[in-house]
Amino acid sequence: MTAKIISGSDVAKSIRQECKDRIAAVARRAGVIPGLAVILVGDSAPSQVYVRKKLHAAQEVGIVAHLFEFAGDVAPETVLSRIDELNADPRIHGILVQLPLPPQFGIFEVLHRISRDKDVDGFHLYNVGGLVVGDTIFPPCTPFGVMKLLEYEKLPIEGQNVVIVGASNIVGKPMALMMMQAGATVAVCHAKTRDLAQFTILADILVVAAGVPGLILPQMVKTGCVVVDVGINRLANGKIVGDVDFEGVSKKASYITPVPGGVGPMTVTMLLSNTITAAEKGVMAPI
Ligand code: NAD
Repeated sequence: MTAKIISGSDVAKSIRQECKDRIAAVARRAGVIPGLAVILVGDSAPSQVYVRKKLHAAQEVGIVAHLFEFAGDVAPETVLSRIDELNADPRIHGILVQLPLPPQFGIFEVLHRISRDKDVDGFHLYNVGGLVVGDTIFPPCTPFGVMKLLEYEKLPIEGQNVVIVGASNIVGKPMALMMMQAGATVAVCHAKTRDLAQFTILADILVVAAGVPGLILPQMVKTGCVVVDVGINRLANGKIVGDVDFEGVSKKASYITPVPGGVGPMTVTMLLSNTITAAEKGVMAPI
């Protein structure tokens, strides 16, 4: 078997076109242009790259993106005050704080300060809690992107065995809740899981988000399974790879996402979608 490659780049392109259409509709109906505020603290090179990508993608679909930069030794109160101002600013529909933050910050204090109606990353407790009961305003972008990829490929989730490798707050845990909500039987594995393969081999859909290159080998997956590789790892030679042995596993799986060009483009795209949803919520009353 040779797996069909799920192109996140293609699906993202299609959703970004829908984003442009939604922006045109909200502008026509209410004269509103969605606005996104991005807060960047410190000078971490990877964070700067991620922020640039998000700002560029936002501008490309027609969202007005504003960057607020702070020095790495800024007092947390200064950033919190800026969040308060952005919460009250009607031109801003979405607020994103680029993570990680320097050690003087209490990350939850910052994330919970963002208005739940502008929490386009989906990290506020309200949105996190909403995942448990299937009533979230803004699903977190990476697992939301994974769900969209499966939806675009028309791959059923209900009744499937879904195994998630990685249990972080931003990927693994919300992924598990979204899969459960969609009717899957879910197992979540992490660094303390004993004999990872005894779980992964059962997966109809395997989602891997551990940050360990080469973690998933062909003998660990069932023939015909769907493999979604969320991992992004830079090897010593500069190559970007996921967590899955793509060469080997793609000979056994029925579908697989590549790295790069798989989940990565979807994460930014769902941020755009959430920002437009935030703008629509305020103004798109049914006619
Ligand atoms: P994290 O470090 O917060 O969490 C990693 C999780 O994997 C933890 O639960 C840990 O217990 C588990 N883990 C680590 N080693 C393991 C092992 N050997 N076996 C089983 N589980 C193991 O990381 P994160 O923020 O969730 O990100 C995970 C990966 O996904 C990283 O490579 C990151 O770069 C990538 N990522 C990609 C996107 C995207 O848009 N494609 C978005 C977010 C994260």
